[in-house]
Amino acid sequence: MYIIQNGTLVSSERVWRADLAMEDGKITAIAPNLAPKPGDCVTDAKGCFVFPGFIDPHTHLDMNNGVTTTADDFSSGTLAAVCGGTTTLLDFATQDKGKSLKEALELWHKKAGGRSSCNYGFHMAVTDWNEHTRQELMEMISAGVTSLKVYLAYDALRISDAQLLDILQECRSLGLQIGCHCENGEIVNFLQRRELSRGNYGPAAHPVSRPAAVEAEAISRYAYIAGLAECPITVVHLSSAAGLEEVRNARRRGQTVQVETCPQYLLLDESRYLLPGFEGAKFVMSPPLRSVSDRNTLCQAVLDGEIDTIATDHCSYRFAGQKELGRNDFTKIPNGAPGLEHRPALFFTQFVSTGLLDPERMCALLSENPARQYGMFPQKGLLAVGADADITVWNPNTVRTISAANQRHQTDYTPYEGMTVKGSASMVFVNGILTVRDGVPVQTGAGAYVFRKCTSTSLR
Ligand SMILES: [Zn+2]
Repeated sequence: MYIIQNGTLVSSERVWRADLAMEDGKITAIAPNLAPKPGDCVTDAKGCFVFPGFIDPHTHLDMNNGVTTTADDFSSGTLAAVCGGTTTLLDFATQDKGKSLKEALELWHKKAGGRSSCNYGFHMAVTDWNEHTRQELMEMISAGVTSLKVYLAYDALRISDAQLLDILQECRSLGLQIGCHCENGEIVNFLQRRELSRGNYGPAAHPVSRPAAVEAEAISRYAYIAGLAECPITVVHLSSAAGLEEVRNARRRGQTVQVETCPQYLLLDESRYLLPGFEGAKFVMSPPLRSVSDRNTLCQAVLDGEIDTIATDHCSYRFAGQKELGRNDFTKIPNGAPGLEHRPALFFTQFVSTGLLDPERMCALLSENPARQYGMFPQKGLLAVGADADITVWNPNTVRTISAANQRHQTDYTPYEGMTVKGSASMVFVNGILTVRDGVPVQTGAGAYVFRKCTSTSLR
């Protein structure tokens, strides 16, 4: 038995002082003054928050984009995750065109199995929609995969509008969650060609080729098509005020639209693309960083409760040798940036340490909501007897500076270089196993596959 004493426990509704005991991977008791028996491990969490482990519902580990493979695999990515306080992540198993969902799922199990330090589950990214794929959806549910993702951008990944409607109808009838990468791929292709034809080869052309309207149009289309299918939807990595306006429009029409955004869209802005040399490549991700005004609007949306989950879209490439593939052509810069390790500290610093939000909201956005939305609640996302012992003990008083030199991502840079953050994970338990103490891993490989249920509960 392991007992955490004197901590301040957090749920989405309250904070309270109690001790917490765990054994065999489950929480076994929560009460004031639990008495340890001989042989119990006891630790003091005085002055710390005790959160249900943070959940990152959007990562890309060990992903090949057709040219190069992400710097982080499941080994390094999940280790970075637990060091930052994240105990579960949901990665995207991605169907290759001409292949089955089953093959994709088997491949991702192979990538993650036996080497993950945090728990992991998979969304299934459907890129080749046909009758066989349709038949496979039930199999996915039986395998614990209860959420799909579709893309409206990237030629290798995107589906047509008619396929989107068909998929949404299936999701509606089977109770699958669906998330969408909302950018109009044809317009992006056109604008990329236009920028290149004008001689704009550098990273500064990246945001020009993917303006906010490209996101807003895709969100609007996605929402209207979902309306035809009467299917609740999720917009992943929302980046712009114009996109948010389309979410509001759909909600006003009575639709259920759940929204995810990421720290990069709440902290950084498009001025990074104008950095000298090729530095801007470090921030090439899709959707791109937006204006200061967009950023402020999204921050306000977090405060106003319009955003449901905070994920990272962690998709890491090294600057040397990987981002550099696009040195002479911005369209060849691998899209994505690292963030998995830093999401809890960035969020805590920006919103909680400043008093803008209370720890309860942080618990909702980073743990309980993703657990609820993706069929893991109440085993995860909640401190309760019988729940999984995924626990992040959060010390709010530490101060440190993020740097490529002290991170665990396998990248040679971080978009948050030089940022001072408050708070850190002082102890992290995964399935009842102490995996991290004061930022240092003490046990690797404690993560397990998370078999998820279909859930009819939507967050709205
Ligand atoms: Zn993504």
